Amino acid sequence: MITDSKYLFEVAKNNHYAIPHANFIDSNSARVFVKTAEKRGLPILLAFAQSHSSILSLDEAAAIGKFYAESVSVPIVLHLDHGEDFDFIKRAIDLGFSSVMIDASQKSFDDNIAITQKVVDYAHNRNVVVEAELGHVGANDVSESDQVTDSVYTEASKVVAFVEATNVDSLAISIGTAHGVYKGEPKINFERLHEIASLTSVPLVLHGGSSSGDENLGRCAREGITKINIYTDFLVGAYQAVKEAKPQNYIDLKKAADAGMEKVLDHYFDVFGTQAIKE
Ligand SMILES: [Zn+2]
Repeated sequence: MITDSKYLFEVAKNNHYAIPHANFIDSNSARVFVKTAEKRGLPILLAFAQSHSSILSLDEAAAIGKFYAESVSVPIVLHLDHGEDFDFIKRAIDLGFSSVMIDASQKSFDDNIAITQKVVDYAHNRNVVVEAELGHVGANDVSESDQVTDSVYTEASKVVAFVEATNVDSLAISIGTAHGVYKGEPKINFERLHEIASLTSVPLVLHGGSSSGDENLGRCAREGITKINIYTDFLVGAYQAVKEAKPQNYIDLKKAADAGMEKVLDHYFDVFGTQAIKE
């Protein structure tokens, strides 16, 4: 069923685990994520990134996301990932997304606050939750964003002012991960995570989880991160499974890819220590 992330994040935060955020780009990936969540009895964020609208339109993503989210009994947050402009985010809310991200992390602090406030106003009036980003999680490739960018760590001293000014429901922080495939293993700044977590009660979330190392991500989940975004690892897992299965036809190829993505989500449920939500 579709829900927002408010209660899920509160429970995850109090119990020191994280919920996976899985980016879908077609009906197969959406179906696999939701069915795997149902199989495990666990919640997920079923996410669609604005930068993927060239692969799947927002209207298609809303229809697919709502259909699969409503087809299971576990909590599914239909989330817009990396919303870049107000009009696109407004459209996602109007189409039934239960959660949206405004990513103005490359704008100035004041501009980030201004656009985030505008999104929060529109979203909260419609019972939709909002994630914003402070600092910037960079990108090693263009799989999830339009350009390769360097990361800028979140400054702990700015967190309280940002959260108070915007009233966001969750905050993406930059503590060492990057989008896309990481070359080597990132060094996560856990001191910064602890510092930020001690300053604010807003749930903290982590982007660029793919290829960041299970030990790193498990520790993030236990030490203050409530949601971790995974995208690239699903593509890598699907492609790896196809190569191993050596399918002789298109249907078998899709089956192998689906099984590959299921394995990745199963793996991250275990790494993040995700627990079932008891009503
Ligand atoms: Zn991201």
